Amino acid sequence: MSEKSILNEIDQNKEEYIEFFRKIIQADSINPPGNEKNVAIIIEDFLKEEGIKTEIFPFGDNRANLIAYLNDNFNGKNLLYNGHMDVVPPGSEEDWKYPPFSAFIKRNKFIFSRGAADMKGGLVAMVIALKILKSLKIEVSGNLILNAVADEETGGKLGAAWCIDNPLKSIKCDFAIIGEPSGLNPLPKAILLGEKGHLQVKITTKGISGHASMPSIGKNAIYMMSEIIEKLDRIDEYIPKSEPPIERDELKILIGEAFPSEEIRERIMNDQPILKSLIQSLVKFSKALTMIKGGIKENVIPDSCEAVIDFRLLPGQKVDLIMKALKKLIEEDLGYIVKNQIFGASKDVCVVLEIINASEGSYWNQWEKSQDLKEFYNIVETIYEKKPFYFLLPASADAHYFRNDGYCPQTILFGPGSMGTAHAIDEYIEIQDFINSIKVFTLFAYNFLSKK
Ligand SMILES: [Zn+2]
Repeated sequence: MSEKSILNEIDQNKEEYIEFFRKIIQADSINPPGNEKNVAIIIEDFLKEEGIKTEIFPFGDNRANLIAYLNDNFNGKNLLYNGHMDVVPPGSEEDWKYPPFSAFIKRNKFIFSRGAADMKGGLVAMVIALKILKSLKIEVSGNLILNAVADEETGGKLGAAWCIDNPLKSIKCDFAIIGEPSGLNPLPKAILLGEKGHLQVKITTKGISGHASMPSIGKNAIYMMSEIIEKLDRIDEYIPKSEPPIERDELKILIGEAFPSEEIRERIMNDQPILKSLIQSLVKFSKALTMIKGGIKENVIPDSCEAVIDFRLLPGQKVDLIMKALKKLIEEDLGYIVKNQIFGASKDVCVVLEIINASEGSYWNQWEKSQDLKEFYNIVETIYEKKPFYFLLPASADAHYFRNDGYCPQTILFGPGSMGTAHAIDEYIEIQDFINSIKVFTLFAYNFLSKK
């Protein structure tokens, strides 16, 4: 079987792939609550047609993770394809041009739906790639492992993290691809080598309530919060210095790969301020006050105020050290007692810190030395007929579970769809992008596994 005939076969079966994709989109897997088993069962049925072994690991209420393999031999070079089955809620359905789970096809060019880009497109392309490889009946020296996971949109502990600690644990992984959307319109496709971490902390200030006519009796919790907000920038002095994995100038050079000339690059960078902000965010630790709530009545001194701070961490920055720094700032600079939890109806003046969400960043340090990555790059360039570029993800994904703690540092993110449309109203994917990604995943695995 030649590469060319593989590509022809994909083009010929396009309609069948699109129908399967639409079926996966229409299967409810909104997280919360999840229901990912709905998707897992459809994948299992599809792979069964080709006799592929699939294992479903159910948990909770109609939730599941899934693993499928090309063959039973795990002693050679193993390639792992990972995708999450859950999607974020659609928000208000009236705001959508087309019903969010209709998988509406527009002008034979786009599919609109929640999950089309993030990331049922990438997931389905990987499932199809596995099925095609099986149907080729080629002799391979390694294995392709498909890992469809739950829970990514709510942190991934029950999905990717669970799989790595359980069924994947004994399987050596030599290269992993997570099929998250890696387009960055109007640029060509990106291949993502690292991701930032995040930490969302709820801060509650506890004061003493009283009548607003005698403010000195109480302790105003909103004022306490405003002291914290005012001093928040000082946290930078209390956290260990961390270098960005790739410096600003180097990022500009990498992104420059995507442009035919430096002049065009400069012009697009100037026209698209979002690119500048993106590069800025990739080289810095950042913080944003995102929510605040306090007070119960016009004439009552508030005894409680809540705020949420969203911190974005560089790879290597540890969540517990950021928490320590925040505690130090509130205790030493402002003189308040910090607690992790409020016990009963305590009347103490204090500040309570609670982690709402957290994940550490990650980065594949040795990417420049990888021959496999170069081959992946070349295949993307051939199929998309445009040079892709290496980059980092400003948000977080499941990649840190693979890279950190050494399970598979050589993990990249690449998939159809654009990052900008993920989680947005009118999320969509370009059909050609979806088909191209099937070609990329199939050809890369074909080459990877055919090698001794
Ligand atoms: Zn995603």
